[in-house]
Amino acid sequence: MTQETIFERILSGEIPCSEVHQDELCLAFRDIEPQAPIHILIIPKKPIKSLREAHENDQNLLGHLLLTAAKIAKQENLKDWRTVINTGEKAGQTVFHLHLHLIGGRSLSWPPG
Ligand code: 5GP
Repeated sequence: MTQETIFERILSGEIPCSEVHQDELCLAFRDIEPQAPIHILIIPKKPIKSLREAHENDQNLLGHLLLTAAKIAKQENLKDWRTVINTGEKAGQTVFHLHLHLIGGRSLSWPPG
């Protein structure tokens, strides 16, 4: 059985969030600990633990998450932004429900730490 994460509790409405977008496939909300003036998380409603667990039949969903990120970036008046998906603990993943970070509103250095 998949263990419920904080994001499932946000999806069910048990824990509040600052929502910026919702549709049949995903929910987007502001990160509680923003790393930039704009820091939004885009999560699929389907509980996929990480990109490692995504399958061929998630292709449409994964594309939708990226296109939604671009749509939200436009809504937030971002010209430049970064999208990040951390996969696995050593890559910085702390919540094991697939999510895409949309980060912008300041200059971003590369490479990330
Ligand atoms: P990860 O490190 O797994 O890639 O990203 C998880 C993100 O979720 C972090 O940036 C963290 O600040 C955010 N986060 C964790 N718990 C909550 C919460 O309860 N509400 C919101 N809005 N963001 C959260």
